Amino acid sequence: MDAADFRKRLRAWFRRHGRDLPWRRTRDPYAVLVSEMMLQQTTVAAVIPYYERWMKRFASVRELAAADESEVLALWQGLGYYRRARNLHAAAKKIAGELEGKFPHDYEGLRALPGIGDYTAQAVRAFAFDEPVPVLDANVIRVVARLHDIRTPVDIAKGLAKVRTKLEELLPSGGGHEFISAIMELGALVCRAGRPDCLLCPVKSFCAAKHPEKLPVKAPKAPVKERSEHAAWISDGKTILLQQSTARRWVGLWRLPPLAAEPVGGASAELTYSIVRERVTLRIHRTAKRALMASAEPRKAFSLGELERIAIPSPHRRAISKMIQEVFDRG
Ligand code: SF4
Repeated sequence: MDAADFRKRLRAWFRRHGRDLPWRRTRDPYAVLVSEMMLQQTTVAAVIPYYERWMKRFASVRELAAADESEVLALWQGLGYYRRARNLHAAAKKIAGELEGKFPHDYEGLRALPGIGDYTAQAVRAFAFDEPVPVLDANVIRVVARLHDIRTPVDIAKGLAKVRTKLEELLPSGGGHEFISAIMELGALVCRAGRPDCLLCPVKSFCAAKHPEKLPVKAPKAPVKERSEHAAWISDGKTILLQQSTARRWVGLWRLPPLAAEPVGGASAELTYSIVRERVTLRIHRTAKRALMASAEPRKAFSLGELERIAIPSPHRRAISKMIQEVFDRG
């Protein structure tokens, strides 16, 4: 493949068709890091309003470092995977404190920040510092696997290494920001998961994929497990009792108090949500405070107005909305 010709065509297409996304207008490494942390497991459309709100409130590393965790989590709520918000906060504290405000430029320095893996470190190098480095997100992996008809599963080390090598052969000697943005955008808009738009593809003449819709290949996954959780609804009509989690999954967040087992009488509301390889049915039961398990976790009754300002995991926020709606419908 003539890499220079490939880059030329990709660049020309990107300059015409690339979307104007808010984080593409900046080279501020902090802003790039915020966008990259938010974009993990979340769509571009969902992230835009969160990113804009966040950058308005925490415009710099120092502002984020000085914030209370409760405010950080409250601003993040709805995006899920709160560990990303905690890591971002911890990274800002480290940069503002130990690193005296100096944002790391090199791979090792970035990887030493809390919660920054290979992907995020490389993304910051490309998007903030314009370095031509391999940034392997799902879009890039799919495009490269198809261009080179790579049939090894890309979620095992051997397949990912093949993709990385092929991507490195395509990298320019400078201008990582535009090249990586362009190849990601090709994956998002044209070389999409499932059915790619090959007829519209600017690099079709370079593509070796015979059955692109079957690529990239993934290793077989373990089956999804079904599980139930039960939580208590204790409300006097003006306030709702919540319990602050100290468990790893939702640490610091306020959720409906958990119940050890399903009480008799059936649930008042029910919803499902997914976490890694699990599908959880959350059932909400009207009950009295004395039915709660003994717990060292703090409990507090919040007014409806206060609920907007505290961080609540999204399945529990949905459950609370359902219960409030049910009260309205009944009466
Ligand atoms: S020709 Fe099709 S499969 Fe190949 S890179 Fe373009 S969109 Fe993807």
